[in-house]
Amino acid sequence: MASDELVTRTRLLDLMREFGLEPHRTLGQNFVVDPNTIRKIVRLAGVDPGDAVLEIGPGLGSLTLGLLAAGAEVTAVEIDERLLPALEQVTGGRARLIAADALKADWSTLLDDRPWTLVANLPYNVATPILMRLLDEVPRVSRMLIMVQREVAERLVAGPGGKDFGIPSVKVAYWATARIVGSVPADVFVPRPKVVSSLVEIVRRAEPVAAVDPDALFTLVRTAFGQRRKTLRNSLAGLVDAEQFAAAGVDPSTRPEQLGVAAWCRLAAAT
Ligand code: SAM
Repeated sequence: MASDELVTRTRLLDLMREFGLEPHRTLGQNFVVDPNTIRKIVRLAGVDPGDAVLEIGPGLGSLTLGLLAAGAEVTAVEIDERLLPALEQVTGGRARLIAADALKADWSTLLDDRPWTLVANLPYNVATPILMRLLDEVPRVSRMLIMVQREVAERLVAGPGGKDFGIPSVKVAYWATARIVGSVPADVFVPRPKVVSSLVEIVRRAEPVAAVDPDALFTLVRTAFGQRRKTLRNSLAGLVDAEQFAAAGVDPSTRPEQLGVAAWCRLAAAT
């Protein structure tokens, strides 16, 4: 396949027939079959020739081909080994293909010490844990352009005060800045998902939002959001005392979704 030929619906159905494949719903296998959507994702990712790009879940190569056409050096990590022969054919040996679970992969050996951009149409069921792990553990992934279910996107970029604001929102805000940069309708996928997707750009901060121990910070955040209808005084009893709330300038009668990332950091610093 020439580099400028992206995966269309006909090509995808032919590939599945040729390799005897069926999409696995449990692995979130919804494949993009619209070249315009792929070109849009690659453009929004701002990939330049020679850039090191990590793709998680290449599937049958729809996005991989777009990234290769932009000149990226692509490392693609796919959990479903059945797809690899077809993916190898589609990419013609031009991408580094790795059979692994992105939730367990040893990123320090898979990714060299260049800055990496993650560009991925993430599997719906594990998108958030994959992303959280990369933010916490893989600083060399410095930018991300991901496609996720719209509701997940809204949680990733949410600010304090609403129902979408939760652990992923605090985590993203601590490590990075994030914004929704586009939406993708269900009809560009095979099979068609029941949900609308959004494109999210995440840019890692040079330094986290405050110099606090992330373990201490996220222990507090997890504990409080685990009981999000309780006041912080109750959910954090035993972890934060009245003096520490006062030192952090945080009212103990508030609920976790009312605190922005800076206040969470002050609370962690006070304990
Ligand atoms: N990138 C392709 C596209 O846009 O057409 C496929 C995207 S599809 C939504 C998600 C892909 O992630 C599937 O190929 C699936 O097998 C793969 N996947 C699911 N769970 C995974 C995991 N834990 N680690 C790596 N890949 C995974």
